[in-house]
Amino acid sequence: MTRSPRNLAAPIAALALALSVAGPAAAQEKVLNLYSARHYQTDEALYQNFTKATGIRINRVDADDAGVLARLKSEGAASPADVILLVDAARLWRAEVDGLFQPVRSRILEERIPAQLRGKDSGQGSAWFGFSTRARMIVYDKARVPKTDVDQYEKLAAPVNKGRVCTRSGSHPYNLSLFGAMLEHLGPEKTETWLKGVVDNMARAPKGGDTDQIKAVASGECAVAVTNSYYLARMMRSQAPADREVVEKIGAVFPNQADHGTHVNVAGGAVARHARNRDAAVQFLEYLSSTEAQGYFADGNNEWPAVIGTQLVNPALKALGSFKTETVPISVIGMNQVKVQQILDRVGYK
Ligand code: FE
Repeated sequence: MTRSPRNLAAPIAALALALSVAGPAAAQEKVLNLYSARHYQTDEALYQNFTKATGIRINRVDADDAGVLARLKSEGAASPADVILLVDAARLWRAEVDGLFQPVRSRILEERIPAQLRGKDSGQGSAWFGFSTRARMIVYDKARVPKTDVDQYEKLAAPVNKGRVCTRSGSHPYNLSLFGAMLEHLGPEKTETWLKGVVDNMARAPKGGDTDQIKAVASGECAVAVTNSYYLARMMRSQAPADREVVEKIGAVFPNQADHGTHVNVAGGAVARHARNRDAAVQFLEYLSSTEAQGYFADGNNEWPAVIGTQLVNPALKALGSFKTETVPISVIGMNQVKVQQILDRVGYK
């Protein structure tokens, strides 16, 4: 039997009444309030699968790292946030220091997430857990630049790269963390000289995101640029003719392989200090360490999974290969950021 829309009205009204009467039962629906700085489309499937597996509905608030942290601070104890996801190690560290997280003791997370990718363990558990990593790479115009001109971050300031260099804003968290690590390697004086040299070498003022820098190298606007690895890998896997053309023209290097290694950043998550749905929050973090979720980070967003032994089927990550990573502690990178920002202001790195 088919019903006209008018005939449907009565049953729907009855159903609505039944639902409102059943208020207390409906209130037991499990929800998780997620504040997320992850800005990657492929994460949608990840969240949907968690809901399918657990019945826990996710309410998501999207902002960048700074926006998430500002909102948590302004909401204080009234914050509805249960889980926080951030895409920068120094911001995770900052939030930990500012007391925005609560410690989590989880055998699953401690078994799966390596200790160096976790926040401080207060004795009651870790403040946060890293779920994926990304390298800060240098890309270059193969036709104009030999690889040896760009195989160290220091060389971004070399005279040979005059007029070649493009980056996004110096005070973006990805760059602040790289520069915070460089401050540890070089000390304050050499870091300031280096960053002044980078500014002097710029082909244009900083603008756009990392993908824009890669494209600007291919278009000839720049010849050298800095990017997170997953933006490059995404382009390497793209079938779009315009992206294929870009990838044809550029070379990519993991800087500083002969000395301190390439800077690697961490995306991770934590349970919010005032979480009301704490069990669901821990369950969600544990889910992010599962083989399925780790596969989404690797194959969906082209990041390296935090869990050792995760099978990589991503052809771009395979093509990029393995490399030596830097070992500056995340807390040091975090603590260096105020000094880095002051240097950036002095050398005019916008
Ligand atoms: Fe990003």
